[in-house]
Amino acid sequence: MRLHITLDFFHKYLLKMALPIMLHDRFIVAGESTRRRVICISFDCEVDEDIGRIPSLLDELRNEGIQSSFAISGNHANKYSAIIKEILEKGHEIINHSFSHPKNFGSINENQMKKEIESFQTLMVDRFRYTPKGFRAPHLMRKYSRTLFNILKERGLYDSSYVGRGISKIDGVVELPLTPCPEHPQVCFDYWHHFQLPIIKSSFKNFFNLWELLLNREPFINIFLDPQFVSDSFLNEMVQRVHHDFKFLRLYDVVKSLTSA
Ligand SMILES: [Zn+2]
Ligand SMILES: [Zn+2]
Repeated sequence: MRLHITLDFFHKYLLKMALPIMLHDRFIVAGESTRRRVICISFDCEVDEDIGRIPSLLDELRNEGIQSSFAISGNHANKYSAIIKEILEKGHEIINHSFSHPKNFGSINENQMKKEIESFQTLMVDRFRYTPKGFRAPHLMRKYSRTLFNILKERGLYDSSYVGRGISKIDGVVELPLTPCPEHPQVCFDYWHHFQLPIIKSSFKNFFNLWELLLNREPFINIFLDPQFVSDSFLNEMVQRVHHDFKFLRLYDVVKSLTSA
């Protein structure tokens, strides 16, 4: 059994001290605000447990009236065709999450990076007649990578792999950065650093307080969740707090609204 200290004090302050040191060189995007208030929720899927949760998650998303984006690794898209078809039939978006979800994606060479991205696109087109429009790096991107942006630009893909605010165009590629945590601006507001980090664990109360803070101050909110960890009641609790002037959109809908404006 793992030991967890569930005190928000430790979670807040230890991470507040540790993260700026660990992530001091993180590339943080400062983009333009959207005119409408928008929330994008994406689901990053790279283990069997994430895939196993998708059918019930799709029911829950339909109940909440949410269209979202699923970032899936090629290995899993290859293995679970029926799930991919279901996601697409229900009107959600699938984005490229690399083929094999390498741990060190940010530091692999250009050819390997190309191969990771291209083989996913090929699989989706050949098997599902679907062309993904966007990319989410495995484990997100920490440093600016001209190589990555060049590859994405050549293929006309948008990116959502960095942390930051608003929407930006980097090296000709639309970047929809993940919204930072109000307490820990170097990391995105995710379930993982609140509840899955070893030893220090936040409380639900703290998580939802921070969520309300984001809802009050950010016009564009872009977050990802891990399907395996997020229960229906947790998602419902998040959605309940969203004011009516927000619209839930898929990431690609936001990109389209930029070009049509
Ligand atoms: Zn992932
Ligand atoms: Zn945080």
